[in-house]
Amino acid sequence: MNQNFASKTVHRAVKYRAFPSPTLILKLEAHFLACEQIFNYLLDANEAYRNQYHTDMDGRTLASLAAKEGRKYPITNRQAAYYVAPRLIYGLIRSRKEGEGTLKKKEVGGIKASFTINCSNPTFTHIRGGAKKRASLNIPLIGDIEIVNHRETPENAKFKLITVSRNPSGHYFVSLDYEIPHDSLTGPAQVKKPLGLDFSVPKLFVASDKTLSPEADMLLVRKRYANKINALHRQLSHCRKGSNNYLKIRQRLAKVYQRIDNIKNDFIHKQTHYIVNSYDFVGVETLSLKEMCERFKFYNAVHDDSWYHFVSVLKYKMEDAKKQLRFVSRYYPSSKTCHRCGYIKHDLKLSDREYVCPICHNKADRDYNAAKNIRDQALRDAGYRIHYNSTPKPNPGQNQNPPSGPAQLGVSPPIPNLEPNKDNPLPNASGDNAPTRQEGSPPSSPIVPIKRNNVL
Ligand SMILES: [Zn+2]
Repeated sequence: MNQNFASKTVHRAVKYRAFPSPTLILKLEAHFLACEQIFNYLLDANEAYRNQYHTDMDGRTLASLAAKEGRKYPITNRQAAYYVAPRLIYGLIRSRKEGEGTLKKKEVGGIKASFTINCSNPTFTHIRGGAKKRASLNIPLIGDIEIVNHRETPENAKFKLITVSRNPSGHYFVSLDYEIPHDSLTGPAQVKKPLGLDFSVPKLFVASDKTLSPEADMLLVRKRYANKINALHRQLSHCRKGSNNYLKIRQRLAKVYQRIDNIKNDFIHKQTHYIVNSYDFVGVETLSLKEMCERFKFYNAVHDDSWYHFVSVLKYKMEDAKKQLRFVSRYYPSSKTCHRCGYIKHDLKLSDREYVCPICHNKADRDYNAAKNIRDQALRDAGYRIHYNSTPKPNPGQNQNPPSGPAQLGVSPPIPNLEPNKDNPLPNASGDNAPTRQEGSPPSSPIVPIKRNNVL
């Protein structure tokens, strides 16, 4: 085995469900309120500064301003005020980057809230007589909070921050942020089971392996609850803002959104867990928000970020399992390329659900064909030799551009780190069970459609 490892540290976080006592709740809520007010104060100060000097305040000024403002609030932990500054800076950077312009003020006493403090040595104490995993976690200067200790943190974790939050359903959480040394894989290693994932609606993804097919229509979850959400929104619009009814309906609405999120998260964690355990190399496509919207527009869920969430969860899980996740360039024509011969069909329409290759007569589901291409392209990017099953003949009817087309394929540069695995040859481009063409041998004779491929 010739694997390259590079040592670095990675950030990880564990989020625990918390059950604070009534007295602690009062304390936490005071922190939430103070942090929201400080945030708005800093935002105002920054706006004023910006109007005068046409630039944002620097981090140090904001932090000292936050600390100074924090003294006005009778909260016990001054750090909570201090950590409002980095949050504001992060929000500013993000809003400037995305071109959204202005950062919104926080709703004081809003339906969700959080604050962050420094914590380098959290102490867990098991609660005697309590449920199996109940533990008490000490938050510096705030007190002991009861949590469900569902996951042990690693021995060598270096703790950084602790974030206490309340979600719209009124549940409290404590999130521990830590750093661990991590050996990440940098070079190619032996790959036995690669996988390619193509983003798709409504099932979130289509895999290059047909045995992996998500059953839940993930992105339709929101649609399933659409009537309920619309009704609640309508009711809310008839209430006087801030009235008891208003707050009650807003809470109910928040619970519906929470439920949708929970369903999605559950799905994402189950799928990524399965993928990480079953495959040792995953290729995914890089999508821009614009492309996501393009594909989402039929589903009325433009702002659904499930794919991003899915990929980020997959990324850290693959990293932890010391496996490779590769992103294929967004300019790679995964849908237009025939996975069997490499022919690029430039006139493929979005409505063509089936890919029919005019050269090798390969027929495949559009997304499935794309998933296979993504898998193979990711492997190529990682330095593996993946060949198309046949070299396509130039199409007389179409003006083909050889450099972007298949002419270069099948001649990957020699890779020093690659160890060809004779017992487990890499699957070739056409599928795991199709005949493998030996390297250097002439391209196979004109392709006779292999029945298997049609069935797959
Ligand atoms: Zn073809």
